[in-house]
Amino acid sequence: MIPFNKPPYTGNEEQYLLTAARSSAMAGDGQFSKKCEQWFETTFNVNKCLLTPNCTQALEMAAILLDIQPGDEVIMPSYTFVSTANAFVLRGAKVIFVDIRQDTLNIDENKIADAITPKTKAIVVVHYAGVACEMDSIMTLANDNNIFVVEDAAQGVMSNYKGKALGTIGHLGAYSFHETKNYTSGGEGGLLLINDPEFVERAEIIREKGTNRSKFFRGMIDKYSWVDVGSSYLPSELQAAYLWGQLEKAEEINEKRLSLWNRYANNLQSLALSQHIELPTIPQGCIHNAHMFYIKVADIKIRSKFIAFLKESDIHSVFHYIPLHSAEAGLKHGIFSGSDVYTTKESERLIRLPMYFSLSLEDVDMICNKINTFFA
Ligand SMILES: *Cc1c(COP(=O)(O)O)cnc(C)c1O
Repeated sequence: MIPFNKPPYTGNEEQYLLTAARSSAMAGDGQFSKKCEQWFETTFNVNKCLLTPNCTQALEMAAILLDIQPGDEVIMPSYTFVSTANAFVLRGAKVIFVDIRQDTLNIDENKIADAITPKTKAIVVVHYAGVACEMDSIMTLANDNNIFVVEDAAQGVMSNYKGKALGTIGHLGAYSFHETKNYTSGGEGGLLLINDPEFVERAEIIREKGTNRSKFFRGMIDKYSWVDVGSSYLPSELQAAYLWGQLEKAEEINEKRLSLWNRYANNLQSLALSQHIELPTIPQGCIHNAHMFYIKVADIKIRSKFIAFLKESDIHSVFHYIPLHSAEAGLKHGIFSGSDVYTTKESERLIRLPMYFSLSLEDVDMICNKINTFFA
């Protein structure tokens, strides 16, 4: 059986987990947390990084930091995971959904301007499959209109756009270390990237239950107390320890995934040329991280047949997202700006193929043979 996903595991995670478990400090912000945060700050040239229990909560922190208030509007694609929207809806925001591009399935940068109103507070971009949105034009548009940009880079760890790591371009960014992502901190995990230094001090307070405890630990004040709203957004040291095992092997994991991705692309080239399927597009200036290998087939009927066909051979392929604007909560909390040309159509054609660190090139060849059989 070839599953759709297996969490990455490289070997040292166990030892680090034990080290953390046997130390006298297992709560958040211990040695492993510091090591991971510093790794991200130096490797990706980020002003400040804070680990969170998951990416959803990093996005929630972003919404609090931007002071999102009831009635504020937040622009984002409809073709995304629910957390992108929920984090802002929880603060009372109205979500303004914008159509995606046919090629990358990222928010269409040319359709954002029409969605901006005096109430617009932020644009949340999602770098789908670890392939960058068109950040130059999005940042220019946001700066011209005094709007914040949050990058949901849950899928984009180790990807970059014109030399900048995804998550480091907007005012704030968020990574996920869920077990389905390229790197995991033991099943669940996330990171808030703070690129605009104005947000650093308040981010530490929000993350520490609304207290100035971080300042206290740095010896800057005698006592810590409740100074702002906040919650508990610190992951356990066990999560950070697991993640450290993966970050030490970050390049190895990335290279392996890219080799699998390229193998799929080469093997399926002829099906793309004969127009049975469409392959992913990587625009100029984008270096991706092989988070996902997806294909697009003609329509939803062929997709259902395709998934069932692979399943008969014990190969697990999946699809996602039901566009948020057409979901029950999406209808309540959001509205689509302009017309839905690609969001629904492309979402019904997409299939994700098995992609994980321990998958072999031979597995990919076998899967591609089956796919060729299906279309023959
Ligand atoms: C996985 C994912 C999230 C949520 O990440 P968690 O760490 O599971 O909270 C948010 N947005 C996108 C685009 C994702 O793919």
